[in-house]
Amino acid sequence: MNKIQNKNLTNIKGKNDHILDRLSINHCPYCHAEKQDFVAVHFRSPQWTWLHLCGREGYTIICGKCRNEINRILTTMN
Ligand SMILES: [Zn+2]
Repeated sequence: MNKIQNKNLTNIKGKNDHILDRLSINHCPYCHAEKQDFVAVHFRSPQWTWLHLCGREGYTIICGKCRNEINRILTTMN
């Protein structure tokens, strides 16, 4: 998966913590940081994808220590 380079994770950390309850992974597979260091970043695909019935919305889970993307959780799709 991707490594997040330029995002300021400190502004996001804690905001979407409720979604981390859905995650079955408890440690980062790259640096072994614990779940409390994970950051959930909300995403929503562009408007044209929803018009073509392939829209996706959810959260990308990033390790706050090594900044690797760990998982994605879809909450909405059409
Ligand atoms: Zn990590």
